Amino acid sequence: MQSALSYVSGASEEPLLGQTIGQALDLAARRWSDRPALISPSHGVAWTWREFRARVGELAAGLLKLGLRRGERIGVWSLNRPEWALTQFAAAEAGLVFVTINPAYRLHELEYALKKVGCAALVVATRFKTSDFIGLLNSLAPELARCEPGALKAAKLPDLRIVVQIGERAPGTLGFEAVAKLGGDAERAALAALRDEIQFDDAANVQFTSGTTGSPKGVTLTHHNILNNGYFVGRAMRLTPEDRICIPVPLYHCFGMVMGNLAAVTLGAAMVYPGEGFDPLATLKTVESERCTALYGVPTMFIAELDHPEFDRFDLSSLRTGIMAGAPCPIAVMRRVLDRMHMRDVTIAYGMTETSPVSFQSSTEDSIERRVATIGRVHPHVEVKIVDKLGRIVRRGEPGELCTRGYSVMLGYWGEEQKTREALDAAGWMHTGDLATVDAEGYGNIVGRIKDMVIRGGENVYPREVEEFLYKHPKIQDVQVFGVADDRYGEELCAWVRVRAGERLTAEEVRAFCRDQIAHNKIPRYVEFVEEFPMTVTGKVQKYLMRNAVEERLGLRRAETA
Ligand code: AMP
Repeated sequence: MQSALSYVSGASEEPLLGQTIGQALDLAARRWSDRPALISPSHGVAWTWREFRARVGELAAGLLKLGLRRGERIGVWSLNRPEWALTQFAAAEAGLVFVTINPAYRLHELEYALKKVGCAALVVATRFKTSDFIGLLNSLAPELARCEPGALKAAKLPDLRIVVQIGERAPGTLGFEAVAKLGGDAERAALAALRDEIQFDDAANVQFTSGTTGSPKGVTLTHHNILNNGYFVGRAMRLTPEDRICIPVPLYHCFGMVMGNLAAVTLGAAMVYPGEGFDPLATLKTVESERCTALYGVPTMFIAELDHPEFDRFDLSSLRTGIMAGAPCPIAVMRRVLDRMHMRDVTIAYGMTETSPVSFQSSTEDSIERRVATIGRVHPHVEVKIVDKLGRIVRRGEPGELCTRGYSVMLGYWGEEQKTREALDAAGWMHTGDLATVDAEGYGNIVGRIKDMVIRGGENVYPREVEEFLYKHPKIQDVQVFGVADDRYGEELCAWVRVRAGERLTAEEVRAFCRDQIAHNKIPRYVEFVEEFPMTVTGKVQKYLMRNAVEERLGLRRAETA
């Protein structure tokens, strides 16, 4: 019987998988050996599951040969490339914790992330467009250029010993291809032993999310967390080995590496990478040329594809399903995805990194109305409750904070017991900071956010982190950062700055101060100078008033969303 209260639990006849990621890959290679696993046209890659598995095994053996041991952390700092996926699976097989680093990170953030989890190894790309990964790494660790490959000793990164470079090979680094040739019989035997030793409850992955405290936190996820979430996300779309998933979303986030790569490995679908960074034209081209059946994206990506001047030129009739997620999903955009992209089985998903990520997803059987206007129903084996400020479950239809419990909830934030306890309560509930409703039939809607977060083009930005960075500017007395509505990106960042007495500052100077130090999506699009901030009588700044003022003045409107 349905409860009158906003508590839902995902009943399912399909059991959870009790495997490690390495075991899942073994199984995939046996079941679907000659079916396509990974296709990346811009890298000339089209590997079957058997080939993919063999390459992963070689890389894992090479990592052991370099002296990496179970439980150590290996980072990856690269855009979407085949080597990224190889590293993801090889790390899992070698029992290492795979640390995914946002390719948009700049010096300040990279140093923090690598140090926080004590990465012993880093797999790094050379460069892409304006991102000079290896150049930035060298400026953080100038010792790299002079060290013996694999024996780095850098003052700022004391734990980092090994740098593996994709593509080229700069001084002090090991070449990616060369590492895959290092392993011998001893390493292969060690891998075979590890297969039984590694437990599915072991930490497999750390991903960084920021927070109200300013510095990013390392969300620690197990094999069990992410493998199962990938599996049930794929099942919601009814993926089979006949499917080919076009993955333009970043791999460093759960959307790419879990909902993409791990859905593929558990259901035998192919992972198709349309390019390193998101490009609407390359995505449309790849869907057509590779006859993709599923397409993923945050709302901003679908908008860019649908609005592309050459959109009509492409035959997208192979598409059947896919996922829009990561930010509030505009109903109007969902309708266009259904009609113009032929994605009749498209789903919306809702979740957060701390819950592996998905908690709600629409099903291919939901009515169109439900599918465009809600986030669907609770995921299999997951529980959700909606609570008021006192922690009491609210009645169906009433808004409150969404809390998630179940197999998908993270182990915790790496090395941050206190922050873990603030997010995860004693009964195991993850408090998401999102405001939601659940209706009588269990369909959810995201109606707002309690947490002070901006989502720009699907990427989360915590104003506090940007404010803390801007406080370092000698001419800035005080600053407030907040989100304002944007048609394309959902939200854009706006900063209100109070300049120190007697100083002069321009918006361009503020933005130049951020360049190369923090990720470009954290650099405010609007910088305005003010004398004071709106405050409550108790002295608390009122960001919503600042947001309203800017939106009204610039004529910015929020879209109706699921
Ligand atoms: P992340 O941890 O980067 O996956 O970001 C998670 C946050 O993105 C959630 O807490 C929500 O605020 C937001 N989010 C994700 N999916 C949706 C969605 N379908 N609708 C609205 N907000 C979403």
